[in-house]
Amino acid sequence: MRFPMASAEVNDEDIEEVLKVLRSKRLALGPKMEEFENAVADYVGVKHAVAVSSGTAALHLLVRALGLGEGDEVLVPSFTFISSANVLLYERVKPVFVDIDPETYNLDPDDLERKITGKTRAIMAVDVFGQPVEWDEVLRIAEKHDLLVIDDSCEALGGEYKCQKLGRFGNAAAFAFYPNKQMTTGEGGMIVTDDDRLECLCRSMRNQGRGGAGAWLEHERLGYNYRMDEMSAALGLSQMRRLEAILARREWVAERYTECLRGIEWVRPPIVRPHVRMSWFVYVICLGKGINRQEVMNHLERHGIDSRPYFSAVHLQPFYRELFGYRGGELPVTEDVSSRTLALPFYNDLTQEEIADICGILASKM
Ligand SMILES: *Cc1c(COP(=O)(O)O)cnc(C)c1O
Repeated sequence: MRFPMASAEVNDEDIEEVLKVLRSKRLALGPKMEEFENAVADYVGVKHAVAVSSGTAALHLLVRALGLGEGDEVLVPSFTFISSANVLLYERVKPVFVDIDPETYNLDPDDLERKITGKTRAIMAVDVFGQPVEWDEVLRIAEKHDLLVIDDSCEALGGEYKCQKLGRFGNAAAFAFYPNKQMTTGEGGMIVTDDDRLECLCRSMRNQGRGGAGAWLEHERLGYNYRMDEMSAALGLSQMRRLEAILARREWVAERYTECLRGIEWVRPPIVRPHVRMSWFVYVICLGKGINRQEVMNHLERHGIDSRPYFSAVHLQPFYRELFGYRGGELPVTEDVSSRTLALPFYNDLTQEEIADICGILASKM
């Protein structure tokens, strides 16, 4: 493919930082992980950051640390990456899927409140594609019904809601650093929270349930190996230093796309609410009703342009259908949107000419 979906930005300084770790032979549980945690905590403005091996691991530890389990229900959008819901299944928590706003694709607060039952214990909010959810609404509902809140901000590092950085909303938040995210550690994730108890539990559980001061073979609770290694942390720290420049570049790429797509009446560019700062993760267009998405994808592919339906509804995945009996029709907005959205190639070093080229080829389909 001439234009892939994503392409991580790794510069010479990043490479040098990783090489330094390799030369030091301190490859795990070392100073880089702690430095990276401090950098993320400072950036977000929270007391604690706990580095882990993936965004999924971060979410899983939060579900456990908050004490969610069998018999509990958690509200979660279906228009998300599968991890947001899977981490609930890991702990036998029932995901209750919430429909979305047709413009921002974020969870619809009215539907959220409608789906609360006597068993609802928490909200798994997701800042979809890097756009913050309506936090005022979500937090108002959580407070009114005494619900815990996890922010799956795995697509939204650097995003802001009413000038407050994501990561500070709810009981805790998770970020992810897979290579298609805004910044990468290879595999990796981060928990952020102001809650001392959550931090302590997550630190212990990521490290086989070891206690803070305890010995290597003393395990206070059931834990996992969800640690982040030193090479990943060094890469993350190096990328973190230029995060604002990365986010600005991605915003520039998104703006060029939106400009170039303006003339195509069967394509709707992303809609960003005025009171948020979007942290651009992917660039997702919505095709007009009646447009055959597969044909558009085939056309793009013939010209060397990758594209992908984004997202595919979680509740309609085969094993969710089997577990809960979903047949389609349960979440009308989610199902309509997920049948028409398409992510275009999106990465930092796309040039104005390349974006114009991609948009021109897209326009030539009709
Ligand atoms: C990427 C992502 C995750 C999980 O991240 P991994 O590091 O791939 O485990 C979770 N939730 C959302 C919404 C994501 O986009």
